[in-house]
Amino acid sequence: MARLTGKVAVITGGAGGIGIEAGRIFAAEGAKVLLVDLADGPLQQAVQTIGSEAVSYVTADVTQPEQTQHYVRTAVERYGGIDIYLANAGIEGVVQPITDYPLDMFDRVLAVNVRGVWLGLKYVIPEMRKRDGGSIVITSSVAGIKGTAGVSAYTTSKHAVIGMMRTAALECAPSNIRVNCVNPAPIDTRMMRSLEEGFAPGAAEYAKQHIADRVPLKRYGSPQEVAQVMMFLVSDDSRYCTGGVYMVDGGMSAL
Ligand code: NAD
Repeated sequence: MARLTGKVAVITGGAGGIGIEAGRIFAAEGAKVLLVDLADGPLQQAVQTIGSEAVSYVTADVTQPEQTQHYVRTAVERYGGIDIYLANAGIEGVVQPITDYPLDMFDRVLAVNVRGVWLGLKYVIPEMRKRDGGSIVITSSVAGIKGTAGVSAYTTSKHAVIGMMRTAALECAPSNIRVNCVNPAPIDTRMMRSLEEGFAPGAAEYAKQHIADRVPLKRYGSPQEVAQVMMFLVSDDSRYCTGGVYMVDGGMSAL
């Protein structure tokens, strides 16, 4: 029996590397899936890539309260409610030391990666309460528990959502809503291409090798490897898990 039959899942950053893979797995396990992202084109492409009638999309900027309410409302009107929320939209910002880091970029990274998650919780939790429970997974990062020179805004944001998750887990436990973080290490998506170029302008391939060498398992992870842990956390297999941080990091946190 599929593990998410009858469930409705909302995935932000649904047109990105990890979001698409989560959508694919959730749909394969029987969920109705609403992908949320910034633009129609990539979302249409994502729905086509997944190739399941159980998946649809809506455009929204997660930093905006009205647009957050709009995607929540869309899920409720289209599918009847929300059981699973994957707060996964994120941006990496730029690679610069704090002294040179552009203020507007710092604010933008915090807006997407922190405010966007908080807004999602604010409007999704009441819908889950109407269904007597649910599971929320926030995509943090190995950058949520470690420092990396050059990515202060990203690191700050990914640490912040772990605190947010812990608070939400405590507030939501009486409503049978579980809240956890998944913390990937470098995963093979667009985001790492951008960071590789940022760490070593013009020598991204060298940067990739260098980063992979620092992972105990000596390679990047795949979106599927992250989405499978997300799948565990949104399914009843993890029914006693809340308030936790789940590393998918090839051993990096052991360093
Ligand atoms: P990605 O760039 O492929 O996907 C991110 C998606 O978020 C994009 O489709 C983007 O359009 C969307 N997005 C950005 N701003 C948005 C906004 N304001 N509103 C709505 N959507 C917005 O990257 P990914 O690797 O799939 O990243 C997914 C999550 O995983 C992010 O939170 C990221 O920080 C986290 N993460 C990624 C890695 C990695 O190595 N790739 C490692 C650790 C954590």
